[in-house]
Amino acid sequence: MNQTLRRILFPLLVIVAIAATCAIAAAAPEPKKQPSKDTAKKPSKIPKIEITLDTSDSPEMADWAAKAKRLCEKNYPMILKHLGDKGFEPPSRTTIVFKKKRGVAETSGGVITCSTDYFTKHPDDFGAVIHELCHVVQSYKSEQPPGWVTEGIADYVRWFNFEPEDRRPRIHDIDRANYTDSYQTTAAFFNWIEKKKTSHFVQKLNAACRKGKYSPELFKEYAGKPLDDLWKEFAKSQKK
Ligand SMILES: [Zn+2]
Repeated sequence: MNQTLRRILFPLLVIVAIAATCAIAAAAPEPKKQPSKDTAKKPSKIPKIEITLDTSDSPEMADWAAKAKRLCEKNYPMILKHLGDKGFEPPSRTTIVFKKKRGVAETSGGVITCSTDYFTKHPDDFGAVIHELCHVVQSYKSEQPPGWVTEGIADYVRWFNFEPEDRRPRIHDIDRANYTDSYQTTAAFFNWIEKKKTSHFVQKLNAACRKGKYSPELFKEYAGKPLDDLWKEFAKSQKK
């Protein structure tokens, strides 16, 4: 290489080298900023419930009970989404007992008692246990609301948030039905209020019941119309 060529090529090589260094620097990712301790996001607390099974009276129910327990644990956050409220400390444990008894299931003192005979004949009815778990969470103490409110709330959570859509209750004879019919009818009415009038209705109603402050006036306060007028509108909508 002669002197003239070297004089031209050398500055060119220097320019190319500087440009390449800049390109690498630009492409390099910025070092990640460490979040400061007080701005770091705390992991969200998923509510859990510890379930003790008692199948000593009905050992043949052990497998079914274990499945019911798993479903209850899995759905506990969903139940609390509807039945939890600010400042409420949800129950952290319950017991499910299987007994050779009449009926379906009942809840008393935070303990769920299931009928072995019923669940042997209806092995797909896990929703009935979810309904009882709602009663554990409701835990109304003094000044209980009317029974149809308590059962309607538990069945709303069960049928409209746990069961598949095709199993949801239909009211067969709406002209003879009333919101006081309880269970599925009241649940369907509450679901209609949630969908057509105001969301979080059940959560608010349940919170009032827990504080011993249930009153029929709450329907007007939360959903804009007196209870009987809401029912009439609901009944009309079911005839369409
Ligand atoms: Zn019930």
